[in-house]
This record gives sequence, structure tokens and C-alpha cells, in this order.
Amino acid sequence: MATKRYAGGVTCEEIEAKSVLNRVTGMPFGWSINPYRGCYHRCVFCYARRTHTFLERSGIGDWGSALSVKINAPRVLRRELANPRWKGDHVAIGTATDPYQPLEGRYRVTRDILVELARARTEAHLITRSPLVVRDIDVLQELARAAGAGICISLPTLDEELARKIEPTVAPPRQRLRAVRMLADAGLRVGVAVAPILPHLTNSEAALRDVYAAAVDAGATHVWHSVLNLNEVARASYFAFLREQFPSLVATHELAYRGKYAPKALVDDIEATFDRARDGIRIRSRHTIATQPRRVQLSLL
Ligand code: SF4
Repeated sequence: MATKRYAGGVTCEEIEAKSVLNRVTGMPFGWSINPYRGCYHRCVFCYARRTHTFLERSGIGDWGSALSVKINAPRVLRRELANPRWKGDHVAIGTATDPYQPLEGRYRVTRDILVELARARTEAHLITRSPLVVRDIDVLQELARAAGAGICISLPTLDEELARKIEPTVAPPRQRLRAVRMLADAGLRVGVAVAPILPHLTNSEAALRDVYAAAVDAGATHVWHSVLNLNEVARASYFAFLREQFPSLVATHELAYRGKYAPKALVDDIEATFDRARDGIRIRSRHTIATQPRRVQLSLL
């Protein structure tokens, strides 16, 4: 197991995974794949930070700097997908890390995973905050034709200054919108996740309308949203951010977030605001790639 060192004190362990497909329950998909552990993007609200504590790493200090890549993931996945017991369920990529964080530029593990999924005609969707996903439009088109593919780009705000504070190493909102446009132009099914909506920071009707309208204008086939929730590690990260950047909001959040979730009244209020914000804006899907599960030419494989 080699460990590579990068600028800014970032390390990346190149690990050999024993398995790649993880069983998931209670979600609309049955399986997930996370090619990396940790995430260079370091979003202050990230609920996946907690997964670092399972590895006895800190979900605060280590999350964005002590990273791992499952270097053999495509090979292991090929074996798992070839297993006669594999039923070809829908797979979600990037539920606990960003599959297109900067390391992917070097390792190309996510790309090779998509190739394996297309080869095995296994439908998948992925979620990312990174425009690097457009590098793999060709493979995503192959997967879309072979089995079905969906991409979701997370974009909680169009406010560039706020985005820099909450998602410090993620590309600016306009670059993410450009990626949505490129994916839509390529005929792919691409959604935008207005997620998470941050109470008192991104939940005004004007802000939500701006981001919703921009996503639709860029060609999003669907736009979904979720409200901030805070497990114990995300809570420590988010409150540290509030204390540093928005100290006047600390007391309000302490009252609201006594547990993991925002109180129902606040969630209901945000839901109603989101409904008003999208009122009158119509999604015009440009999704054109039809899935042809049989006799498809997988030219990349
Ligand atoms: S990009 Fe996703 S996984 Fe990475 S830090 Fe941000 S929220 Fe967490």
C-alpha cells in the first residue's frame, strides 16, 4: 500500500479494496460505490465526514487531507458484476465522497468504474460537485445507451462568495452550471441538487429562485433539494464554520438543531419557500439518449 503526498499536506493512500459494491437499505437504490475515502472538497456541512471516524481518522481535520483511493476498484467491480448472483440492481456512485474530487484527475478510477458498469449493462447514477465529470461524457453516454445513466450536480447557491466559504475547494457555481449545460447538450439525464439548503444563508425565496432558474436554463432534467441535517461530526464542522464566519447565527442554530434534523416547522417553511421559488419555471428536458440494453455497440470497451 503506497501513500502519495501532495501539496498542502494532503496524503493519499492507494488501497486495495476487497469489495466495491456496498449494499444500501432504505434508499431508492440498492447498491453504492465510493471510489475514494475522504474528500478534498471539505464542504463545511458534509454529512459524509462521519465515515472517516470509522477508519479512526478525524472527520474534521483529516477529512479533506488524509484521503484514500481504491486503486483496484474497477478490477474488483468487474469480478463482482460477473458474479452469477449479481442481479443488475441500480448503483449509486458518490454517496460518501465526491467521485470527481481532484484526485480523480490523476487516478481515473471513477471513469474506469463507469466503463465496467457499461460493460456489465448495470444502470447507475452519480452525484458530484465537480465539473471534472464532463471529462467522462463519452463513457457516460455509453452507459446511458447500455443500461441507463444519471448525473446529479450539487449546487446549493449561486452566491460565489458564500460558495467559497461553504465549499472551499469546489469549482464556482458558474462552472458547475456550465458542466450541467455540457452534460445536457450531450443528451444525458442531468439533475441539479440544491443541497443542502442552509437555513438563514441560502433559503431566501430570491436565492432559491435564482439557483432553480439557472439549473433549468442550463438544461437540468430535474432539480431536487434537501435541508441541512447535522450528524455529530457534521455538527462540529458546521458550528466551527458558523463561529468563524457567521457568529450571529450560532445561537439560532443551537436552538434549531438540538438533534440531527431541523425542526419540522423550519423544514415546512423552507419547502413552501422552495415551491414558491420554482413557481412558473418549467423544466424542458433535453435528455435524448435512449437506453438500448441489447445489441448496443460499446465502442469504448
Ligand atoms: S463534495 Fe460531497 S463528499 Fe465532498 S466534502 Fe462536499 S459534501 Fe462532502
